[in-house]
Amino acid sequence: MRFDIVTIFPNIFDSYFNESILSRAKEKKLIEINIHNLRDYTEDKHKTVDDSPYGGGPGMVMRADVLVRAISKIKNQPRRSEGGRGSDTKSSEKTRVILFSPAGKKFTQKDAQRLSKYSQLVLVCGRYEGVDHRIEKYVADEIFSIGDFVLSGGEIPAMAVVESVSRQIKGVLGKEESIEEKRYGIGVPTYTRPESVVIKNKNRIVPKVLISGDHKKIEEWRVSRRRASP
Ligand code: SAH
Repeated sequence: MRFDIVTIFPNIFDSYFNESILSRAKEKKLIEINIHNLRDYTEDKHKTVDDSPYGGGPGMVMRADVLVRAISKIKNQPRRSEGGRGSDTKSSEKTRVILFSPAGKKFTQKDAQRLSKYSQLVLVCGRYEGVDHRIEKYVADEIFSIGDFVLSGGEIPAMAVVESVSRQIKGVLGKEESIEEKRYGIGVPTYTRPESVVIKNKNRIVPKVLISGDHKKIEEWRVSRRRASP
């Protein structure tokens, strides 16, 4: 799986993607993450990526021509693992162009599962007042919101998509059985030692069933406590 992120703030991603699970997944070549600075796809000497909105208004809008140039170049790039054979890509190669907007469809775990079947995701991070609407209309395959609130850019949404999709790729989390949300569902309460903890002047103990050793009962309890099915 290859992720291509288009952004005007490429440095935002470095520290997050170089830690823990995602860093390991990159090393194991289970995923490849490329960060593209949108300014590299401009053709004027000031490297302009935005302009004022038609119809007036104080904000700025990201230009469609620059984004189209960037996205089409990125879609046609050879994969690193294919040794630079140019357009000689497999017909099974499947790309999805994803745009972020607070007005988009709510991104869910089901989307993460579905998107993990593609071989390339191009993630376009908006800034300012967003991107020229022609990208949403004619270029993007999906437009996602990560929640009913407004952020200043699509970079955090892009990180959320990269991480949740990567978790669905076999090998990224180690053994498949280790993905607890796939076994029981999302939101199953978990506990660890010590068995008793004083919180607000009271002993708070671990549910008895979990220390019963009765695996069938434990399984039933977990299923009954989950907040969403796998
Ligand atoms: N004025 C715009 C919002 C711009 S926010 C509007 O009304 O639609 C700037 C950028 O941040 C957006 O282009 C989008 O890429 C990103 N963004 C902000 N909130 C988001 C959210 N909840 N989900 C996904 N992307 C978001």
